[in-house]
Amino acid sequence: MMEYAKDFEAKVRNNIKDHALCSKKEKIFVACSGGKDSTTALYILKKSGYDVEGIIIDLKMGDWSQRNLENIGNFCRKQNIKLNVIDLREEHGTSICYLRSGIQERERIGNCTICGVVRRWILNRKARELGAAKLVTGHNLDDEAENIMMNLLKGKPELFMNMGPKTGAIEDAKFVQRIKPLYFCTNAEIRRYTEEMGWDKEIVYEPCPCSVGAFRRDVRAMLSELEKKNQRIKQNLVAKLLDMLPRIKEKYQHSAKLKYCKACGEPSRNDICKRCQLMKVMVR
Ligand code: SF4
Ligand SMILES: [Zn+2]
Repeated sequence: MMEYAKDFEAKVRNNIKDHALCSKKEKIFVACSGGKDSTTALYILKKSGYDVEGIIIDLKMGDWSQRNLENIGNFCRKQNIKLNVIDLREEHGTSICYLRSGIQERERIGNCTICGVVRRWILNRKARELGAAKLVTGHNLDDEAENIMMNLLKGKPELFMNMGPKTGAIEDAKFVQRIKPLYFCTNAEIRRYTEEMGWDKEIVYEPCPCSVGAFRRDVRAMLSELEKKNQRIKQNLVAKLLDMLPRIKEKYQHSAKLKYCKACGEPSRNDICKRCQLMKVMVR
């Protein structure tokens, strides 16, 4: 294997070790999308000897979902990794597009907000039912830098509670802890790794067609522009966040208390969880 790929894998393993993300005795599920990040996380965890399975929600977003599903299905077969496919229509009786248009007819809520809320709700429940100790996401350093800026620009510092290489503030039997093995890897580094591994024909690199107009895209463009002047701005943002995180967690601890949603029984910060609030908009 090329030197670069070896160093990259070592960087991911160091993050897992340094931040005690997971152990080899635990059952771990990777939330897959078919994209480069989650595929890379899945592969490196498996290769490093973790007890890992993939989990993917078929969002039924036409050709894009189809291609991603096929790619990750083939990848997992080749790598001998079990992949759990969740059919959104079976879970919700609808495709994500139908859900979104039903909600957006009544309220101005962005595509990714709706999709993200529904996906997180399903993934937590399914991962728990499958006996997961940890749920891995493919979040990378670029994502985290964008999240920091987005939370600041939205004026919601309490959202920092969910940040860092692992969600740690909340301990609850119904909530599966999320971990981010690629936390310190940039988009460019992960892309290069997948290319050096020869996976570039099996991975869809284009962004999801439904993310058009998302606030995240504006923030990404802004950070990329600033990065031309200082290549380390994203690293600096993330390093500063990690430095401040213990104090932020202490300050907002009270708002992180978990309750159970009165409608669905799933963990929630409010009496009614975000997913059930969205469902209410649909039937208004
Ligand atoms: S980019 Fe947005 S709409 Fe597309 S899968 Fe991700 S959250 Fe859903
Ligand atoms: Zn609910």
